[in-house]
Amino acid sequence: PDVSKFENNIVTSPYGDCDLHDMTMVQKIFESAGRWPNKIALECGITGRKYTYEMTCQLIRRFGSALTRMEYKKGEVFGIISPNIPEFPIVLYGASGAGMPVSLVNPTFTAEEMARQLSAVGATALFGVAPMAETLKQVARLCPVIRHIILLGPPLEGAVSFQQMAQDSGDLFNETLDAEDVFLLPHSSGTSGLPKSVMLSHFNMTSNVMQFLQPGGTNHQVATTNYQDTYICLLPFFHAYGITLLMNTGFQTGAKLVTLPQFEVQSYLKAIDDHKPTAMHVVPPLATLLAQHPALKVESLSQMHTIFCGAAPLGVQTSVKLLERLNNPNLSLQEGYGLSETSPGVLMAPLGNTKLGSCGAPISRSKAKVINHEIGDQALGPYQHGELYVSGPQVMKGYWNNPKATEEMIDGEGWLRTGDVAYYDDDGNFYIVDRLKELIKVKGLQVAPAELEDVLTSHPAVGEVAVIGIPDEHAGELPRAYVVKKPGMESVSDSDIQAFVDSKVSPHKQIKGGIEFCATIPKNNMGKILRRELRVQYANNQANE
Ligand code: AMP
Repeated sequence: PDVSKFENNIVTSPYGDCDLHDMTMVQKIFESAGRWPNKIALECGITGRKYTYEMTCQLIRRFGSALTRMEYKKGEVFGIISPNIPEFPIVLYGASGAGMPVSLVNPTFTAEEMARQLSAVGATALFGVAPMAETLKQVARLCPVIRHIILLGPPLEGAVSFQQMAQDSGDLFNETLDAEDVFLLPHSSGTSGLPKSVMLSHFNMTSNVMQFLQPGGTNHQVATTNYQDTYICLLPFFHAYGITLLMNTGFQTGAKLVTLPQFEVQSYLKAIDDHKPTAMHVVPPLATLLAQHPALKVESLSQMHTIFCGAAPLGVQTSVKLLERLNNPNLSLQEGYGLSETSPGVLMAPLGNTKLGSCGAPISRSKAKVINHEIGDQALGPYQHGELYVSGPQVMKGYWNNPKATEEMIDGEGWLRTGDVAYYDDDGNFYIVDRLKELIKVKGLQVAPAELEDVLTSHPAVGEVAVIGIPDEHAGELPRAYVVKKPGMESVSDSDIQAFVDSKVSPHKQIKGGIEFCATIPKNNMGKILRRELRVQYANNQANE
């Protein structure tokens, strides 16, 4: 290994410096789309509805122009609450072109959860699909500053039709943004507390695409007359992972994006069979499915050059099984690591499956270090465990309207504290071993304990409460609650409380790891819940069973 890589125990990228661009993501996409106007950009994996790159760019212009005609102004926030459909990128880039930062909302959220996210950023317009019309109307009632609901589907009273906006002449599309303007507002709880809106600029997002595509790092290929990458887009577009690695990278390279609106095994396997993807983007439970599902036709994956897995740790056993099953010497299985706060990519395993179990080295223009807070914030050498810090052009501008949380997350030198415990080896490849922050990840999706604790405390029987994540073979982790009942509430059962929570949260936040009643919640003398103690206690109980 190159010893200088670890000067001051800071691990730099093994890749050359990528180009950085002083333009918006929309300008970048228009620039590249002109190279492959007639190739299919977007296709619905269920209905076959499709758009070429030329049609897509035209619709982006028309949609953005229609928003300007509806008197939306630069800086107003646009909310998207939609499953993955071909029109999602059109709406996203169109709204962005009209100057509107886009708040990305999980469509499985309850109306209250959606409204909480959108009202915090003051969203004034909303896009969704017709089957969700009632939910969107409820959201608009809870967020009175929303002026229009825009719906894809049959005309509906009280909503503006996407199809009608798509007829706009496009003449008012006039991008006046610059690269530092906010492009996206995904939702993340960061290292503690309630979910916050992450401000990702155009510069953050274009940088992350260029970092990811830096030669030597991945097998991704730009479209040519005879070649086009194909991705199956099941990972949600409302998460930075889906936006950067599927949408922005796909558009940058002229790929065909086959969208799937929801996870359903048969349609996923059918899309693979119909479209013969060249790259797959997965989270660990999907990697397990590909490694094991008897109905997967392995030959449909013979043209695949990359499986990219991120959002949660990928077990070595799963990787080995998957590679054995696919038996394709040209295929790289690359684990990546990142956060919504880093657009999201920071670390990526090398080509050629040489480091299974590692989420790799810093991508182009990124740096990482491991800090031991107990010995004076010292950066540690190889193989020593501590908190992972990262830096690079993809680090967010900050949290929306929350300078305190931003300051806690990014230090004066631009290092972002990840809240993850990691170490690196002699080659500068990183391994994530634990998490310091409160965050729970269920199938790669965030669950903030503080949010569930708020919901639980609103139940009349619940006195004190603490929520932790427990390991689960399928989901990665599941939320588990420890509850001290109020006096006189002895007869309330765990299923009563579970049903109450289920009615108030989206499916991935449900307390499927169980509810345990206890006499006290362990806290330090500042009143901070000692979640680690509960995690250790749970692990010991499991070991003794
Ligand atoms: P999100 O902001 O939703 O992308 O969540 C970011 C968090 O996901 C990180 O701080 C990690 O805790 C976790 N994470 C992401 N990728 C990996 C990975 N490859 N291995 C382990 N944890 C990961």
